[in-house]
Amino acid sequence: MIYSCMHTHTTFCDGEADAHTMCAAAWSRGFTSIGFSSHAPVTKKTGLKTGWHLPDERLEEYIAAIRREQKLWEGKLEVYLGLEVDFIRGLCGPADRDIQDLPLDYIIGAVHYVASPKNGELFTVDSPPEEFEHGLEDLFDRDGRALYDAYYDAYGAMISAGGCDILAHLDLIKKNNRGFAFFSPDAPEYLNRLERIADLAAEARTAGAQAGGRIPVVEVNTGGIIRGRTAEPYPSPAMQGRLYRRHVPLTINADAHGPDQLGGAYEIARETMISAGYGGMLIFKGRKDGRALWREEAL
Ligand SMILES: [Zn+2]
Ligand SMILES: [Zn+2]
Repeated sequence: MIYSCMHTHTTFCDGEADAHTMCAAAWSRGFTSIGFSSHAPVTKKTGLKTGWHLPDERLEEYIAAIRREQKLWEGKLEVYLGLEVDFIRGLCGPADRDIQDLPLDYIIGAVHYVASPKNGELFTVDSPPEEFEHGLEDLFDRDGRALYDAYYDAYGAMISAGGCDILAHLDLIKKNNRGFAFFSPDAPEYLNRLERIADLAAEARTAGAQAGGRIPVVEVNTGGIIRGRTAEPYPSPAMQGRLYRRHVPLTINADAHGPDQLGGAYEIARETMISAGYGGMLIFKGRKDGRALWREEAL
């Protein structure tokens, strides 16, 4: 199996190690490539103050640091520059002009924030359990369906807006659903949500190809397994099957926040993909003439 990870965080945002340490770890583990995807700055655009995004004023420094690693590892390890860009309804997203104009190799689109239908207050669906309880209780009146509806509405809007090379952790909403505490992943209304998102992903690929825009690939993200929060990757085997039937290709990422997480649980990801019907996965190969390049590798 080829090892590569395009979803990697460093001390520029909420990662534990600097880019050089992450490259060295990838190299020693036999990776062919590593891509950096710091959480894109949000403060200047949205007013949100967080401890986990790249500060606006460090964006240039981040770009320079990753480009430096790219040169340093040339001929040994392919190093790519990306960002994980938050889609926050009405505030910001991967399709924003300023993001699209950055000199990046790729853009990962992600939904972490949902807004309360009561008062518009934002909260992150992958927050620690106590904080999540507050969100579910106070902002969504313990209505699990309203919460996942808000999440998938946002996710669908992000896909339709375009501008993503990779769609991040598609069903992140399950991270805090231990013991199916707030929704049943087998409920027809939940599965309908997955169907709709799979349709949108397939439509966005067609639209991207026709318009000469970005053609999104879905990542199989092992971060939840690595951190002991989920038993399966994002997206679930059920969702992977839906994507397979619509010919949406997958790539495997660890959402690594430290060197030890690189390549974590890839075998599980691989098995779920094979069960879903996939015979191959995509490996990122850079950007040429505005187009993301991918190579298909057997699983
Ligand atoms: Zn994320
Ligand atoms: Zn991430």
